Amino acid sequence: MAPAEGDRDGLAGKVVVVTGASRGIGFEVARRFAELGASVGLVARDHTALEAAAGSLHDATTHIAVADVASASQVRTAFASIDDALGPIEILVNNAGHGHRAAVIDTDIEDFRRTIEVNYLGTVHATAQVLGGMLRRGEGHIVNLASIAGRIGAPFEAAYSASKFAVVGYTEALAVELAGTGVSVSLVHPGPVATDFAGGPSARKRPKPLPPDEVAAAVIAAVRDERDEQYLPRWLRAAHAVRVLVPPWYRRAIRRRFAAERQALHDRFE
Ligand code: NAP
Repeated sequence: MAPAEGDRDGLAGKVVVVTGASRGIGFEVARRFAELGASVGLVARDHTALEAAAGSLHDATTHIAVADVASASQVRTAFASIDDALGPIEILVNNAGHGHRAAVIDTDIEDFRRTIEVNYLGTVHATAQVLGGMLRRGEGHIVNLASIAGRIGAPFEAAYSASKFAVVGYTEALAVELAGTGVSVSLVHPGPVATDFAGGPSARKRPKPLPPDEVAAAVIAAVRDERDEQYLPRWLRAAHAVRVLVPPWYRRAIRRRFAAERQALHDRFE
């Protein structure tokens, strides 16, 4: 459908749901969609933070719904309330995420489980609520926030990295299943972003953390321009290509990069 005049992005009046919209990247995504005239459903666990986030979107049409995305039943209830308030959901941004930084030896089984339940199953639960309706209407877009850690195993973040690899595999498979239906699904892979994720930015200086609104701009571009996959910053795509095409070179480089952390870990077991 051609966008109405003055609606260059074709997003005015669309019903969008953003999970993890109370702060960080998700809030910036919600803000951008609201500025473009979309009606926005905001989902997260903390009701007070959601109210504050929606309140700061001023004149926008919004609806907040509390859910832990790890719970299929909470997601079902939250999405039903958004559907009732705003109408059928046309765009879903699976952004809610849980970070975990620790060596494998220091990571509890419960941390592995929780990270998979939030990052991977959270994406599955939310997608399950919108996919049937999108297919029946023959249009819709889902954007999944993965990570460069979903393309390259991130040392000292194995639980997180594995959960994002799961998101990537799920999304790639779904994209093929949906081809030709009018419903599409996109991946966005940020490197470090300046938010409070996982207790604050990593101590590493490079790559420099991006402002969250740059990630939000990529999410908008994914929907508007039907971009299937974006890396932020863009050169991270080359890092992934090196891992695939020249594995020995990649292994040497990543071991060098984590030399200090590896040494500290090995020293503990001497
Ligand atoms: P953030 O600032 O910590 O915000 C996370 C958002 O998700 C909050 O709104 C939080 O609200 C919500 N959330 C967390 N756990 C949830 C759960 N179980 N159920 C529902 N909502 C939940 O994180 P961010 O940096 O914006 O990250 C957003 C996404 O980008 C994540 O998927 C993350 O993996 C990905 N990403 C981040 C970075 C980075 O460096 N920041 C890099 C690559 C990818 P409540 O706590 O109230 O639920």
